[in-house]
Amino acid sequence: MTATGATWRNWSRTEQVRPLRVERPDSAEAVQRAVQAAAASGLRVKPVGSGHSFTGIALAPDVQLDLADLSGVVDADAATGRVTLRAGTALHGLPALLAPYGLALANMGDIDRQTLAGATSTGTHGTGFGFGGLATQIVAAKLVTGTGEIITVSETERSELLPAVRLGLGALGVLVEVTLQLVPRYVLDAVERPEPLAEVLDGWEERVRGADHFEFYWHPHTELAMTKTNTRLPGDAERRPLGRFSRWLDDELVANGLFRAACAVGTAAPAVIPAFARLVDKLQSGREFSDFSPSVFVTNRTVRFREMEYAIPLAEVPEALREVRALIERKGWRISFPIEVRAAAADDNWLSTAYGRESGYIAVHRYFREDQREYFAAVEDLMRARGGRPHWGKMHTQTAETLREVYPRFDDFLAVRDELDPERRFQNPYLDRVLGGVHARV
Ligand SMILES: Cc1cc2nc3c(=O)[nH]c(=O)nc-3n(C[C@H](O)[C@H](O)[C@H](O)COP(=O)(O)OP(=O)(O)OC[C@H]3O[C@@H](n4cnc5c(N)ncnc54)[C@H](O)[C@@H]3O)c2cc1C
Repeated sequence: MTATGATWRNWSRTEQVRPLRVERPDSAEAVQRAVQAAAASGLRVKPVGSGHSFTGIALAPDVQLDLADLSGVVDADAATGRVTLRAGTALHGLPALLAPYGLALANMGDIDRQTLAGATSTGTHGTGFGFGGLATQIVAAKLVTGTGEIITVSETERSELLPAVRLGLGALGVLVEVTLQLVPRYVLDAVERPEPLAEVLDGWEERVRGADHFEFYWHPHTELAMTKTNTRLPGDAERRPLGRFSRWLDDELVANGLFRAACAVGTAAPAVIPAFARLVDKLQSGREFSDFSPSVFVTNRTVRFREMEYAIPLAEVPEALREVRALIERKGWRISFPIEVRAAAADDNWLSTAYGRESGYIAVHRYFREDQREYFAAVEDLMRARGGRPHWGKMHTQTAETLREVYPRFDDFLAVRDELDPERRFQNPYLDRVLGGVHARV
């Protein structure tokens, strides 16, 4: 939480701002008053989630709305699986909130630190060929628009706005409530193991289509990929959770502790990075376990990093990754962070990275003390050549002009923005860049 006068920083330490004012509204009406007051003073206003976007998408130079007090369940129907939550609810709070109804999110990303509105507004996704990003689970939303109106968008009210509002980059309004279509609580059976990268790439589409949730990590400078294959089981299936020691050893000691040391040493002496990468691969020898879905999807990330992620056509992933590998070898870079590769179903949210196409995701990372620019820029060129779409919450250099080329409904989204936020009350420099400023639609 930021106090008025203090500096707000995002998780990756790539962005910071000192808002003129910080407000903590706890109801739709309080949000409405905050937006109206900002308008009366000619100020911009921006809600912030958990600050886990790597881009400046959440920067609030004028009035920052901290929605930590706007959390919890508003209404739940266990029979239909529909639950209305306040928009500032943190994802890590969901398992406890949903337990009484026996429900769960249909899919999740790697972490659960984000807020519901923050995650859905940037198109946060997990992996799984049959599943879209978190925003696809939204069936209704209540928001305060830039003119200070409280509106509801659902399958029966202003339904034409849903494909924009579900994934709105925080540019259309302040979400105060979100209704999700959830699924009965389920168990995931997880198989994680190192496999030859060449084989994983050759079998990519088959593996993705044949599993509920498939993804892999590849440490540059090695020949192995760490694959993760999760199979969905009913909620009453037998569970074999990871023991505390095993979780500590794999997730805390190797994935975070040893890895942090490797990154720190690698920053000073890049030549050691390939050897460290092989050591980490060797220590992560694979494991099998099963547990309720959040405990399997979510990992603990304590090593700070910077990330860029692009969505490209699913079938092009193997070739694109081979190109990234060749690039790293050609340039002689030493990259300490693994590359993460995932997949998602096509969806119909206008600014979804998977809009209208089955998508594969390639995410590149760098330790936060290293300069990521040259690496990310070169990978970005490769992804752009494949019609790639950057994750809205992760680093990239695209602008409204280049994004319009890869989003067929880009101008429809801008038309909704003109309607809901005609004076650009929610504008910030990032939104200016990716959506254009007041005169974007020339
Ligand atoms: C360690 C780490 C792991 C990650 N893993 C994944 C992953 O597995 N998959 C993935 O896709 N992404 C991942 N991300 C990216 C992350 O999910 C997104 O950047 C997400 O938006 C962060 O949520 P947040 O709550 O921190 O939102 P913020 O970054 O604070 O805000 C994001 C946007 O949401 C807007 N917003 C917030 N609240 C509201 C509201 N009430 N109404 C309207 N707009 C609102 C903000 O104004 C801003 O535009 C990861 C990031 C980190 C740092």
